[in-house]
Parts: sequence; structure tokens; C-alpha cells
Amino acid sequence: MDAIPYGKQNITDEDIAIVIETLKSPYLTQGPKIKEFEENFAKYVGAKYAVALANGTAALHLCAMALGVKEGDKVITTPITFAASANCVRYCGGEVVFADIEPDTYLLDINAVRELLEQSPKGTYKGIIPVDFAGRAVNLEEFRKLADEYNLWIIEDACHAPGGYFVDSKGQKQSCGNSNFADLAIFSFHPVKHIASGEGGMITTNDENLYKALLKLRTHGIVKSDDLYVNTIEFAGGKDKYPGWYMEMQTLGYNYRITDFQAALGDSQLKRADEGLVRRREIANNYYAAFKDIDAIKGQSGVVEGHAYHLYVIEVENRLGLYNYLREHNIFAQIHYIPCHLMPYYRDLGWKEGDKPKAETYYKHCISLPMYPTLTEAEQMYVIDTIKDFLS
Ligand SMILES: *Cc1c(COP(=O)(O)O)cnc(C)c1O
Repeated sequence: MDAIPYGKQNITDEDIAIVIETLKSPYLTQGPKIKEFEENFAKYVGAKYAVALANGTAALHLCAMALGVKEGDKVITTPITFAASANCVRYCGGEVVFADIEPDTYLLDINAVRELLEQSPKGTYKGIIPVDFAGRAVNLEEFRKLADEYNLWIIEDACHAPGGYFVDSKGQKQSCGNSNFADLAIFSFHPVKHIASGEGGMITTNDENLYKALLKLRTHGIVKSDDLYVNTIEFAGGKDKYPGWYMEMQTLGYNYRITDFQAALGDSQLKRADEGLVRRREIANNYYAAFKDIDAIKGQSGVVEGHAYHLYVIEVENRLGLYNYLREHNIFAQIHYIPCHLMPYYRDLGWKEGDKPKAETYYKHCISLPMYPTLTEAEQMYVIDTIKDFLS
């Protein structure tokens, strides 16, 4: 049996052909593939606007910038996430405040967030960054209500959940990233995620002003459009209109662009996203059925409506033992995540063990099993049998 990782990209001949075609086109970057990918992605998640970026971390950074995070601003997020969800606040000089998770869903606990908000004068906190951890959609309708009470913005970190959804109070499916409740949502196209472009990211939103701000921030803060200029035509060197070369840098932005060949790959992968989701849900069902009667396995991701299954997490007593046993058998399970507040960087900022007991207990037992569309039935059987062998 070949090595079985916890996640793996799936690059088809069709993907390769479109990348080669793009490499032979006049545009390696800043060409038409980016716009196509953005439009198709916006449609896929049900948002008005999408901005493609170099990676998911750049997406988070620009969201924090566009929302005006500054020195001293407090923002709430979950400790059970990839560090970038929190770091974007630090890039802008803000303060990250971790709230504990809900032990059943592993998601940011809205009650823990509410408690934090109630303990401080209104205006102390500026925003919330909930994460659709493992692919399970956060109920953003509830978070929106709470955010409105305290005048907060919401960035949905939907890196794990393209194609995921939750069902709102009216029975409507609300797709991750549709921005009906969040101000902005972000995605990553790192190879372990659902859609791979090598490196890549996306922001989705329904807010035109934020959309325009993000476009500017993505390219150095530069605009190139007559109606946006601040300097006079005369200064620019024109007579009755701005000369062809003219552009303006109006704010301090970055170069966070994605290339055209990455966008072409992402767009090609997006076409198969639904197919991949079907397979991920099948794999989740198989795990669930195999483990549901085993007492030693707890906290299964289970079969949850709208779950996008980036990860399939179980909890076991002897996690280190199982992890090592699986490795000995060529199965490379992974741990998601070491609680972010206990990373040395955040410890230096004052966080310590015991601060978020539910996240910390979860971390002691969690393990993410192989989950990706090309995992074969035989491979999954082997994973299941190996886990059962270990437990007996
Ligand atoms: C992958 C990931 C990111 C960062 O995305 P990159 O493209 O790797 O920069 C942020 N948040 C979460 C939850 C992720 O899984």
C-alpha cells in the first residue's frame, strides 16, 4: 500500500491542458483568467463579488485592512484554526482575543463570544472571525445577530468549506462564503484544500465599497481609472484628459495578485468541486458507519448536513499511540490544530495553558483521518481496519 496522506490534490489532464494553454497565452499574470475565476467562484458560493489573491493569508490580511483594523482594536476568533485566521489581526496591529470552542462541533462557541462581549464596554471589540472548521459551516445568522448588537464586522474564514452550507431559521441553505451574513469571506487554494491552484486565495463579498477597496489594496494601492484620480489632469501631463500612462498610488497596498496560470488551474478545479464534495461526503459516511459502534472513538465529525468535509476528525484516548501506529502502517493522519493561543508567539502575548480548556481538551484527543476525493475504497478500508486493529 502506498503512503496515504490526510489530504491530497487531484490534478487531471484537463487541468494540465488549461495551464499549458495559459502559459502560451500573452498573459502570465493580470490577464483574463483571473476575472473568469473570480466570476465563476462568486457564482459558486452565491456572492456578488470575488477577489482572487496570492494565498488565503493575503486574503485575510486584506480583509483586516479593508475593515480598518488598527492598533489596539480587539478581534475575536477561535483557537482551533490555522494561525493565519488570527495573525491577520496582528498584521494590522490589532489584538487577538481567543474564545473557546463548542466541544460537539469544534466551532467557535457563540456563547463564549457573547460572554466576552458582555464583559467589556460596547466598542471594545471590532470584529469576529469565525472559522468553518473541518468544513462544518458556522451558523452565521446567529453570529450576525450578535455582531449587530455590538456593531461588529464578521470575516468568515471559509478555507475548509467551499460548497458547505448551514440551514438558516427560514429553512434556507446558506452557502459558506455567500456573505449574506458575513461582511467578507475568505478561501485558500493550497493543495490540501478542496480547490488547488498551488498557492491561491479568494475573498467574497456583497459589499461594493469593500470590493473596490480590496482591488486597490491587492495592487499596491494603485488605481488606473479616470474617474478615481485625485491629482488634476494638468498635473498628470494631459490637456483635456488624463494621458494614457497615468495611474495613481492612493493608499499603501501590496502585491497580493495571483497569476493567470494559477487562476486557470483554480477555475478548472472549481468545475469539479461538486464532484469532489460528493466523494468527500461518501468517505465521511463510510467512516461514520465503521466507527459508530466503537466506544473508544468519540467526537466523530459524523454525518452533518452541509458539511464540506475538508477534514474527518475523530477523538481517541491514546491519540499519540494511534498517530504513531498509523504512521508505522504508512497512514499519515494529521492533527488539526495545536491551539493557536498556545503557540509560542501568542504565549508571549500573555496566553497560557488553561485559558481555553475545551480547545485544549479537544487538542489532546483529536486526529484527522485521510479525506480526499481520490482516496480509494480499498485505501479507506485499510485505514479503518488499521484503526480497529490498534484499538483492539
Ligand atoms: C489554509 C488556511 C488558511 C491560509 O491559507 P493559505 O492559502 O495557506 O495562506 C487560513 N485559514 C484556514 C482555516 C486555513 O485552513
